[in-house]
Order: sequence, then structure tokens, then C-alpha cells
Amino acid sequence: MNQNQHRILDGKALSRKIQNHLQEKIAEFHPKIGRPPGLAVLMVGDNPASAVYVRNKEKACQRIGMASFGKHLPGNITQEALAAEIAALNDDNNVDGILIQLPLPKHLDAVTLLHQIDPDKDADGLHPLNLGKLVRSEPGLRSCTPAGVMKLLAEYNIALEGKKAVVIGRSILVGKPLGLMLLEKNATVTMAHSRTQNLAEVCQEADILVAAVGKPKLITDSMVKPGAVVIDVGINRISDQEGNSRLVGDVEFDSVSKIASYITPVPGGVGPMTVAMLLSNTYWSYCQKFGL
Ligand code: NAD
Repeated sequence: MNQNQHRILDGKALSRKIQNHLQEKIAEFHPKIGRPPGLAVLMVGDNPASAVYVRNKEKACQRIGMASFGKHLPGNITQEALAAEIAALNDDNNVDGILIQLPLPKHLDAVTLLHQIDPDKDADGLHPLNLGKLVRSEPGLRSCTPAGVMKLLAEYNIALEGKKAVVIGRSILVGKPLGLMLLEKNATVTMAHSRTQNLAEVCQEADILVAAVGKPKLITDSMVKPGAVVIDVGINRISDQEGNSRLVGDVEFDSVSKIASYITPVPGGVGPMTVAMLLSNTYWSYCQKFGL
């Protein structure tokens, strides 16, 4: 492949397309059902990055006509009080999706709380029942970020069957479910992580390379096979010498984009897809509930 022939996997554009589709479907079903789908985002404390994410999700709900039942709870809320908020949303007939914005303050046990979300309203697909369905390849709610990566690959008709996929990062939020989703599409999947030896060699084998780590410039051009498809899930805020801060991924975009066949930018790649999948999941739960 000649230099600079890469194509951008445009998550921003695809997210907009998905949201426009959802907006049309909601406009059609809202009058028939008597209410729109509803999403509740629970935010605890004042983490500035979380506040931006929550605002984006609420704005997206508004744009597509989805009801938003967001709650901003104090940072010192107790485990019991937060569990009671979740129980109330589980019982609320107007709510189809519930998301706890992570990370939570340290005194709260996030895993126990995630288990308390009604699996049918688990918009982030992190309940063990939904993760179990993914392991079994059964339909169910799937984690938004990996599901967004899969949608993006499908949109650009990127072949996965028989391809070597390397996923770097094994979190329950991104890496592990994404590995399973790629496997479901018949890729040959390698999971790399912080204890992987010779990461560069492992990456060089990849037809599809996904970085989900949280380390700027972890992936350089020497680690990438020419023509590979590179998906950058990482979101890192860095500051330049003048003190201006900006978001970058885990991939050194300028050099890697010269040899990749497709690459996601940061921002504008996987991030917007995560929001689109959250809305899609909530709409899916609504459809399941009303047999649409
Ligand atoms: P995490 O910290 O839970 O997991 C990071 C993973 O990276 C771990 O499994 C670890 O083994 C691996 N790792 C750490 N150092 C490594 C190294 N030197 N070499 C190889 N592997 C290494 O993080 P996460 O929640 O999975 O998120 C990963 C990144 O993706 C973060 O930057 C996060 O902000 C971003 N993220 C983006 C979105 C989005 O919508 N785009 C969503 C979720 C997370």
C-alpha cells in the first residue's frame, strides 16, 4: 500500500447516522406506545470527565426524542442509598436503560451495584447475565464500546472471518467483550495485556489491531503490519509545552496512519460510537418490552 492511502473509520458520522435512524423509529413508536424509550444515567460525585460524558449522553437523548432520567448524586452517597436509587429505576416503567457512570468514588462497590441493575435494563451490558449471553453468542445487551467497534467495522465492510485480530487490554468494559465479539465473527483472536511479552511482535501479526489500554503512543508504526486495520479505543488527555491539553488515543496516529489501511481517529472514532450504542441498547430494551 502506498503512503497515506489509509481510510478513516469515521465514528462521528456513523454515530450520527445511527442516531438519525433511532430518532425516526422513536418518532414512529412514541405515539403508538404512549411514551418514548427512557434512559437513566446515574452520576456520582464531580469527576469532570464523567460530567462531560453524562452531558453528552443527555444531549444525545434529547436530540433523538428519548426520555432522559439522569440523576446527579452527591459524592458521599452510601452504597445502600445508591442501591435504592437503582431499585427505584428498576421498578420505573418509563425507564428502559440504566447506566452507572464509572468510575465511582472509592468507598462504593461498583461490581455489587452493577449486579443490582435489572438485566433487561442493563444499557451498558455489564451485568453477568448479559456478559454470559455474549459468551454463549445469544442475543442480549452488549457492552457499548466493544459493540460500537463491531458496528464501525461492519459499516466499512471490513472482513473478520479468518483474520488475525489482536486486542490489547483485557478489561471487562472493553477488551474482554471485544475479544469475544471478534471471535463470534470468526476472527482468530489474541488477547494482549500488561503481562504480554514481546508486545510489538504480537501486534505485527495483526490484520485487525485494537488498542484499549489508556497509554498515549503505546502503538507505533514499527508495531503495525502494513495494511492492518487499526482501532484506537484509548482516550488520554495530554498537555503540550504551552500547557494546552488535548485528547489522544493509544496509537501514534501520524506514523501509524501512513501504513494502516483503516484507522480510527481520537477523538471522532470509537468515542461517539459508544454513545450511539448506549442509545441503541436502550431502544432495543424498549422494543423487547413492547414486542416491537
Ligand atoms: P483498564 O485500565 O480497565 O484496562 C487497561 C488494560 O490495558 C488492562 O487490561 C491492562 O492489562 C492493559 N495494559 C496496561 N498496560 C499495558 C501495556 N503496557 N501493554 C499492554 N497492555 C497493557 O481500561 P479500560 O476501561 O479498558 O479502558 C482502556 C482505554 O480505553 C482507556 O484509555 C479508556 O479511557 C478508554 N475507553 C474509551 C472508551 C470510548 O468510548 N472510546 C470507552 C471505555 C474506555
